[in-house]
Amino acid sequence: MEPADESVDVAIIGGGMVGASLAEMLAPLGLRVALIEAQPVESTAQPSFDARTTALSNGTRRILETMGLWDSLAAAATPIRSIHISERGRFGRAVIDAREQGLPAMGYVLPNRALGHELWRRLRSRAGTRILSPATVEGVTATGGAGRVAVRQGDRSSTVEARLIVAADGANSLVRTGAGVGLARRDYEQTAIVTSVSPGKFHDHVAYERFTTDGPIALLPLADGRCAVVLTLDPVAAQAALALPDADFLALIQERFGWRLGAFSTLGRRDAYPLALTEAQENVAPRTVLIGSAAQGLHPIAGQGFNLALRDAATLADVIADAATGPSPDVGAAEVLERYAAWRERDRRVLISFTDGLVRLFAAGIGPLRFARSLGLLAFDVSPAAKAAMSGLSRGFAGAQPRLARGLPLRAETP
Ligand SMILES: Cc1cc2nc3c(=O)[nH]c(=O)nc-3n(C[C@H](O)[C@H](O)[C@H](O)COP(=O)(O)OP(=O)(O)OC[C@H]3O[C@@H](n4cnc5c(N)ncnc54)[C@H](O)[C@@H]3O)c2cc1C
Repeated sequence: MEPADESVDVAIIGGGMVGASLAEMLAPLGLRVALIEAQPVESTAQPSFDARTTALSNGTRRILETMGLWDSLAAAATPIRSIHISERGRFGRAVIDAREQGLPAMGYVLPNRALGHELWRRLRSRAGTRILSPATVEGVTATGGAGRVAVRQGDRSSTVEARLIVAADGANSLVRTGAGVGLARRDYEQTAIVTSVSPGKFHDHVAYERFTTDGPIALLPLADGRCAVVLTLDPVAAQAALALPDADFLALIQERFGWRLGAFSTLGRRDAYPLALTEAQENVAPRTVLIGSAAQGLHPIAGQGFNLALRDAATLADVIADAATGPSPDVGAAEVLERYAAWRERDRRVLISFTDGLVRLFAAGIGPLRFARSLGLLAFDVSPAAKAAMSGLSRGFAGAQPRLARGLPLRAETP
């Protein structure tokens, strides 16, 4: 076999929300890390750090705090003081209040771009992080002792050899396919349209989730007083909605959401995301780990995709940190991958079933089920146990927590 052009301990394919977070988590460990990303963070074609906002759980805030990132992000993050869940045309509703739950906030809304700029600003100054971007991975192979990554940068092709290859290359992961890992996929036959509006009344840091027979609509509070909107429609209705003039699209949002926040105005740009539940049959393969959307893709209804994915990254960083301190470190050895897979099993399973269950429950238009749902929301509103379970999601994590989620740095950084 030809010698590789470069040799590293960890090659991370994809420097989006999850791959870039993992690279930054690994930076203090003194390993040789390559981060290979097709679209630079400044590019308007960057698919991860786009115009979306992400609802971060308190568990995610904790991880970002331990990484030393939160102070730089806090100004762009809007605290969610309560979550209001309702169903159009029904009597039930539920409110989960942070103070009632003994939390400073139920979570935080952060523009994806703010996270992208801060992560990439730091990564560019990391001596041990080799950044290849714009660079596209065209193939991966794994032999006994190492993985190989074929990279294209413009006209130039090169090979990177790595003890461990991390697939952080999103839902259509080339690394996952190259590693021969199958994917279970169920199309929700729904499209999320993401935009923003100015509400007539101040949002008061409330996040709204409203279920309608045509799909859910979520409004999230933003720092400038506006609200991010996630409107879910069937694909045909979504196409028609995307073609509407701004005034008609605003009227559609108003009709779906109602008047609780007054009249909406000043529509932002609209972006569409087809929704599917995807689950890789394994999250490890020889010399390879799958994290984030490459491992699983969730409906955004409960805002859990990135929160779950950051726990993938924090757990992998933890396992790598332990493997890197052994007498003959091999961060891609089979036992390291097995430890990672076993650790992530429960959290993944719980979140996938919870999110999918929520989609199915609120998709059902059947009379008795709808009635039960209304009662359910009412019961939820008075049941401290149900609310505590929901706010447990905000605290984040089913099962043992990795060090970064417990406030413990993986290794002290020398200033
Ligand atoms: C509408 C919507 C709203 C959401 N809201 C929330 C929310 O409120 N809270 C929450 O927790 N989650 C939310 N999510 C989920 C969250 O966006 C995802 O979990 C997150 O984007 C996953 O990031 P990722 O880095 O794994 O994948 P991606 O974002 O897909 O990034 C993959 C990266 O890999 C790069 N790449 C791909 N192929 C290659 C290649 N061959 N070579 C080099 N680079 C490559 C891409 O350029 C990209 O940068 C939402 C999702 C959607 C669709």
